[in-house]
Amino acid sequence: AEIAVAPATVLGFAALACAPVAMPVAEVLARCARWPAAWIAWVARTGAALPGGGVDWPGDWTGALLLAVVTAVLVLLGRRLLHRPWLCAACGLLLLVAVVQPPPLARVLTGWPPPGWRFAMCDVGQGDATVLAAGPGAGVVVDAGPDSRRVDRCLRALGVTRVPLLVLTHFHADHVTGLPGVLRGRRVGEIETTVYEEPPEQAAFVRREAARRGIPLTRAVAGEERRTGALAWQVLWPPARPAVAPDGPNDASVTLLVRSGSLSLLLLGDLEPPAQQQLAHSPDAARLARVDILKVAHHGSAYQDPELTRLVSPRAALISVGVGNTYGHPSPRTVAALRAQGATVLRTDRDGALAVTGEGAGVRVVRD
Ligand SMILES: [Zn+2]
Repeated sequence: AEIAVAPATVLGFAALACAPVAMPVAEVLARCARWPAAWIAWVARTGAALPGGGVDWPGDWTGALLLAVVTAVLVLLGRRLLHRPWLCAACGLLLLVAVVQPPPLARVLTGWPPPGWRFAMCDVGQGDATVLAAGPGAGVVVDAGPDSRRVDRCLRALGVTRVPLLVLTHFHADHVTGLPGVLRGRRVGEIETTVYEEPPEQAAFVRREAARRGIPLTRAVAGEERRTGALAWQVLWPPARPAVAPDGPNDASVTLLVRSGSLSLLLLGDLEPPAQQQLAHSPDAARLARVDILKVAHHGSAYQDPELTRLVSPRAALISVGVGNTYGHPSPRTVAALRAQGATVLRTDRDGALAVTGEGAGVRVVRD
């Protein structure tokens, strides 16, 4: 990118100087400056998309102090290493491995993800991002969470490079803002959303991102059934023609009943009690009796339909929730109601990312 800095700067300033006296000349100069500037932007974006392209650093005084210590240690070490080429090469290699973190090596060192994982819930803070294993390197992703970096890091750790389908349950920021992180460096076949396009600016953001990458955008409606390898799923909600308009984006959440082998998972998005009640009384209700794993609706909020909770009676209930969130999620009442039905309750704020393995009586939820 360095060679493009000089022409971009000179042409840019020349355009600025010409603008007050000869606007057409300034326009031509600005157009010429666009090329080197676009090259710099491309290098930056490509670099940022590489694994380990960004490092989270605390933005407070602790971060500043840490940076000073790291710099001092590097300067001292650098002087000594200069005289030992082999040690220098070994340190370079170690640094490369630490930054890139190749998934097979990370798996051996950290035990994450557990071998044969079927479903995983990423720890994306206050929001949702769930992954359904769909073959080697492939995962159907349900929601992108609020943070591009966190969802990207989670998918990288899971070794997901191909996403045949990304479902965005509804357009609230805690489910869609992380979209660029899912798309980063991955082949995404299709993005499926709810039919209810609220809030409009978030729906427009999703349309723009999909168009930019040429990814087809479709809408999920109840009754749709799909399969890829051992993974099969059915859309239970929203109905194609709802009897009444949904009571806000949450109640229009795409709801999925997923099967991987004999293991079942119910994903309720952020459904509120009105839609939950309708589900509990729908013709699909029989299929919802005793699922293995429940992605608890709306980050474990207090507003749940007790009838649906009783019907589903999951073995394990997973709650995606941010540490110290201001909404009071998850509600102790909801957690108690799930436990009363015999469910083991796990939550990403305390347990980190979660992965489900095994089936039948051997179902296990592994913490990151
Ligand atoms: Zn949400």
